[in-house]
Amino acid sequence: MILTLNAGSSSLKFSVFDLSAGEEEIANGIVERIGSAEGRATLEIGGERQQVDFQGDHSVAVQAIGLFLRKQKLLAKVKAVGHRVVHGGETFQQPTRITTEVEQTIERLSPLAPLHNPVNLQGIQLAKATLPNVPHVAVFDTAFHSTMLAQAFRYPVPNAWYTKHGVRKYGFHGTSHAYVSTIAKDVLTKVEKKSSKIITLHLGNGCSAAAVIDGKCIDTTMGLTPLEGLMMGTRSGDVDPGLAAYMSSLGMSIDAYDKALNKESGLLGIAAENDMRTLLSMREEGSDLARLAIAMFVYRLRKAVGSFAAAMGGIDALVFTAGIGENASDIRAEVCEDLTFLGIELVAELNAIRSDTPRIISKGTCSVLVVPTNEELQIARATAGVIK
Ligand code: AMP
Repeated sequence: MILTLNAGSSSLKFSVFDLSAGEEEIANGIVERIGSAEGRATLEIGGERQQVDFQGDHSVAVQAIGLFLRKQKLLAKVKAVGHRVVHGGETFQQPTRITTEVEQTIERLSPLAPLHNPVNLQGIQLAKATLPNVPHVAVFDTAFHSTMLAQAFRYPVPNAWYTKHGVRKYGFHGTSHAYVSTIAKDVLTKVEKKSSKIITLHLGNGCSAAAVIDGKCIDTTMGLTPLEGLMMGTRSGDVDPGLAAYMSSLGMSIDAYDKALNKESGLLGIAAENDMRTLLSMREEGSDLARLAIAMFVYRLRKAVGSFAAAMGGIDALVFTAGIGENASDIRAEVCEDLTFLGIELVAELNAIRSDTPRIISKGTCSVLVVPTNEELQIARATAGVIK
């Protein structure tokens, strides 16, 4: 069995997979609001879910998960642990077995992902203490994008920024883009549809698109940081690079600017609400700001689809995933409207179906699919691939 761990700043997610038995997920859970008085742990096994109050830090959270797995007689069966690590820089282009040197490199890359890599590393160290005798594997969010060519990943800024400081596009959500593009290819191959040139749209609270040719990423919308690209729940996505200097001239500090673009912008910045479900209801009730926020969100997505279709010289499939991509049929319909020149023609009845299985929802030459993402399974698969 493979245990996967995803350590965030205030949460810790885990899953246990039995990859020998049809990739079955045996158990999963999440400890949320770590460090706050309202901490909570949700643990699920065999379809039974329990919720308990949780108090403590990441170390207590790992112990609690260890205890749960021991009680369920799963801990001794864990053959390897797969860890989600956000930033692998240019060093890690594949899932990698964790050694002391690997840990040091993850730490060295922390300036590129200060909110994620340190806590990912902490998760690794705590899990190693609980399970010292099994291999631990790091699965990097950036790795899927390592196949981008320099023409796509370099920024047109002074060369030394890249050579000295590693300033380039890295991309994120790679585990999700890798998973859904693979599933989409499988689905399309079965029905003898083309699947060489795929655009994947990961639309959750964070949003990114990737252009994938024959399984290899050639471009993605997120960049040096997860701030670049599409409009998101609280992140701006692309703005004029001159905006920083302009806001600075008005007296704003770089920290305040960074916070505003990461936490107070995007859908939240325009409509004071970052949850797409709520925004769709607000639009229904006549909110002009919700209408504008959604129109901007959709418009920017359509531009990303158009630019990646041009970059790839065509498009065989468009894949929607994550909270918004999987559930918001209205958003899918609005993104695909009037894109018949790209061969995109949604079938309204298929788009309206709610289901957990990957499905095709179009009739044109470019297939449109909804593929529920499963980053945990992708991490488990990658981990199994490293230890075999
Ligand atoms: P994620 O980060 O993948 O969990 O996605 C979170 C986003 O998905 C939030 O904006 C949610 O409002 C949105 N979402 C989840 N379910 C739905 C739904 N049924 N309709 C519209 N948006 C949804």
